[in-house]
Amino acid sequence: MNREVEELIRQGMAAARVGEKEEARRHFEEALRLDPNAAAAWLGLSGVVDSPEEKRRCFQRVLDLEPGNAEALAGLAWLDRQQTPAPAEAPEVLYCANHPTVETVLRCNRCNKPICVKCAVQTPVGYRCKECVAELQAHYFNAQAWDYPIAAAVTLFLSIFVGAFLPWLMSMLPYGWLFMFFLTPPVSGGIAEAARRAVGRRRGKYTWLTTSAAGVLGGVLGILILWRQIGVMPWLTFLIFIVLHASTLSMRLR
Ligand SMILES: [Zn+2]
Ligand SMILES: [Zn+2]
Repeated sequence: MNREVEELIRQGMAAARVGEKEEARRHFEEALRLDPNAAAAWLGLSGVVDSPEEKRRCFQRVLDLEPGNAEALAGLAWLDRQQTPAPAEAPEVLYCANHPTVETVLRCNRCNKPICVKCAVQTPVGYRCKECVAELQAHYFNAQAWDYPIAAAVTLFLSIFVGAFLPWLMSMLPYGWLFMFFLTPPVSGGIAEAARRAVGRRRGKYTWLTTSAAGVLGGVLGILILWRQIGVMPWLTFLIFIVLHASTLSMRLR
């Protein structure tokens, strides 16, 4: 490396140190015009060019000339870090309100409380916490304490009559069992409606269950009474009746 090139590089460094980039750049470029293989000039130039592409090209030239040059390697590594896109804004990490050690990104869309996957209930309107779901259900299921026994008693009473007479009457008709399929759903639906009216149309979460149990019990009592009093057991029509009766009650009162 000749004296002139050395001097240009020295002046370039001096200019770069005081922030005179343009001045520094002129010196380094002049040095490289005289000696394109002056690694120190490429290294100096890398510090005063603006674009990452230019910097990278400078570091690359240094490494071509001096493989393993630590400054150039560090410079390239630095450029790589700069160019890695910043990770997309990570969702805020929350901790479940019920499980303080469980991280989550979900919130209840009603009360905004953070909830983990275990605590989240997926509803048609989004994720909700169990407390909000329970609260809304309590609002929806407005049955009072006596509603369950009242609805059950009405169903039981009516089912005794229907269970005794409908299968018996139909068993006396040709193809009566077939008629059971058409007659039972509207009759059982009528009983469900009577039970509903008896409790002022209030909704109970388990009305469907207690009422259909009462319906089955009533039907069985009805057929037993019939058997004891008249001595007939229309088991086929009764079987069809009791299955359809229970399913109709549970569907209509859900
Ligand atoms: Zn909630
Ligand atoms: Zn939780």
